[in-house]
Amino acid sequence: MIFDLHSHSNYSDGILSPAALMSRAKANGVTVLALTDHDTIAGLRDAQQAADENDLVLIPGIEFSSQWGKIGVHIVGLGIATESDVLASAIVEQRQSRLSRAQAIAERLAKLGFIGALEGAQRFAGDALVGRPHFARHLVDIGAVRQPQDAFKKFLGTGKPADVKYQWPDIHQIIAWIHAAGGQAVLAHPLKYQLTRTKMRGLISDFAAAGGDALEVISGQQSHADTDALARLATEHHLSASCGSDFHMPNQSWQELGNFGRLPAHCHPVWRRLGFTA
Ligand code: MN
Ligand code: MN
Ligand code: MN
Repeated sequence: MIFDLHSHSNYSDGILSPAALMSRAKANGVTVLALTDHDTIAGLRDAQQAADENDLVLIPGIEFSSQWGKIGVHIVGLGIATESDVLASAIVEQRQSRLSRAQAIAERLAKLGFIGALEGAQRFAGDALVGRPHFARHLVDIGAVRQPQDAFKKFLGTGKPADVKYQWPDIHQIIAWIHAAGGQAVLAHPLKYQLTRTKMRGLISDFAAAGGDALEVISGQQSHADTDALARLATEHHLSASCGSDFHMPNQSWQELGNFGRLPAHCHPVWRRLGFTA
């Protein structure tokens, strides 16, 4: 069995519909796929139907944004009960965090003389929640900057006047939500946070102490050395091991469905906690 336990559809920032995602997973030889869209479970119904049609096993999942000190981290929930009330209100709360940030960005822009930026940005977001790229497009549209990247350089980027950080729930809160929904909490792509070795250990140890269940030992294509180091850290902290592509779209070979190495033999795969015996 080939497990890919981290992927995105167009219900968050992925490109493919859940159905197209499932066909692609199947074509790539994946047998068990977790759909883990950012802060939403809205794609899981379509995904389940497509999984049935493609004879694939779907693990219902979600990827929550969280915060460890000042550092933004992602925690994946696997095997969540989609009907959970706790999960439903958690998703509303995450949505509110994104909205509050968008409002704060708009207030900063108003102080700079750009009135109505939230409404302007919303036009580019359509049904999606407003994010910085939408503000950037609005600023281009009103002639404040020439290109979206200039909007980041002048206004929206780190340290610039309309730079507003998210306030995400801490790792305890996220783990509690996932557990309340009967899921396994997995610390996602630990290498992506660009931490020093000491900080990385600190994060993994805090995650384990907070009741986290697994570490994403493999996230897309990475070196054997990285895989071995993460596998050792997982074992050391009594965490299970997960693996996933973090697929968002075609033509990104380093994040292709099912296209990554195998977990080292000494790992305890997180799928055993989900009832698979492989
Ligand atoms: Mn993403
Ligand atoms: Mn992520
Ligand atoms: Mn992801």
